[in-house]
Amino acid sequence: MDKKTILDLKNVSKTFNIKGSTETVILENINLTVKEGEFIAILGPSGSGKSTLLRIISGLIPPSKGTISYLGKDIQGINPGVAMVFQSFALFPWLTVLENVLLGLEKKEMSIQEKKERSMAVLDMVGLDGFENAYPKELSGGMRQRVGIGRALVSEPDILLMDEAFSALDVLTAENLRHDLLELWFANKIPTKSIILVTHGIEEAVYMADRAVILSSGPATVRKDISIDIPRWRDKKSSAFISYVDRIYSFMTKKPVPEELEKKQQVQPQQLLHKHKAVPPVSPGALTGFLELLVETNKKTDLYKLADRFMMDIENFFPLVEVSSLLGFTNVTEGDIELTDKGREFSLAPLLEKKMLFREQILEHIPFIKQMISILNSKSNKRMNIEFFEEILITEFGDAVAKEQLDLLIAWGRYAELIEYDDSTELVSLENFQANE
Ligand code: ADP
Ligand code: MG
Repeated sequence: MDKKTILDLKNVSKTFNIKGSTETVILENINLTVKEGEFIAILGPSGSGKSTLLRIISGLIPPSKGTISYLGKDIQGINPGVAMVFQSFALFPWLTVLENVLLGLEKKEMSIQEKKERSMAVLDMVGLDGFENAYPKELSGGMRQRVGIGRALVSEPDILLMDEAFSALDVLTAENLRHDLLELWFANKIPTKSIILVTHGIEEAVYMADRAVILSSGPATVRKDISIDIPRWRDKKSSAFISYVDRIYSFMTKKPVPEELEKKQQVQPQQLLHKHKAVPPVSPGALTGFLELLVETNKKTDLYKLADRFMMDIENFFPLVEVSSLLGFTNVTEGDIELTDKGREFSLAPLLEKKMLFREQILEHIPFIKQMISILNSKSNKRMNIEFFEEILITEFGDAVAKEQLDLLIAWGRYAELIEYDDSTELVSLENFQANE
């Protein structure tokens, strides 16, 4: 029998008006159907709009376009079927544990006695029996988050929304809490029908969810929606588990993904590079460090193991991976990363040679750098006002991003000893150019 649709998002877009001037599209055409019984993980880079999406689902903010329906009815305003757990716990310090949980029942028409009984039962369920009169500051982070989960569960929501609910906790505490939540869920100890967990932890998603929805960024669209078919409880060391983690990693790093390419009528990746593409903010120094670490691992490595080994968040890690592969220093395939010959040469080279290799790669792979050089070259004094370049980028990226991109590319150009920039005159010039040449 087909499972009932509990939540349905159709063509949801969200535009923010930042500082009242530029309109920024954060979410674009998100379609998402959630059925009863599903545990969904939403993955995406930091700042891609995951929290915004949850706030729209809960009705805290309206979408700019599109509709949200809960049990077949369009939602205007607060969604009655959801409750949210936040990363930051969001407890009131002046209220006791019990009083914090009671807040979850604020809107319910029940006697205070009933509310208290239900709250006590929930506290018991989340492992806080005996702590009802404690204040948040007396609790550890893990226990505070148990209060946060209790407050969400006490209203018996059909849909539990969790916004990076485990990411502020230490590894073991997070692990325990994930386990305890899954246990409540599998044993049907909570009437919750679906859980939507926003996370940037790929392992967390594969451990907990039945489906992973991967968002792209700038603006966020659904890049990939895959079901995770591994029996419970899941063994993180099993090959099935590892292969899902690998796959998701590769969907999150690869850009553009093959399906998107197909949709764009078989454009070759090479052609896409000719449009200016925002480059992740990585300094030459950070890139060098990353490649030097890679050279020591010597061979093809799982990206997620590498991130783990360096104890890096994917937020810090992905830009390095992306830039290294964009510049041809690494090959990234199916969740593995490997140094190319160029990458190896670069890592082992002394500084001056590094600069020259970097120069070759940015000229080859970053069309905007090439464009800047040819523009500067065509001027007799080999100089150009920075605004000129900024304008080119503004038409593609908007003000804020254009400025960032230009700063970044100028820093790259300087490192490569290709261009110079003088802050006081706001002039970009070709490096080493003698006016009398
Ligand atoms: P994530 O949860 O994926 O890290 P968010 O949903 O918090 O991302 O934010 C996505 C983008 O939307 C960010 O660039 C953020 O600055 C912007 N944003 C979020 N809320 C607002 C708001 N109320 N007004 C303007 N911009 C916002
Ligand atoms: Mg967020």
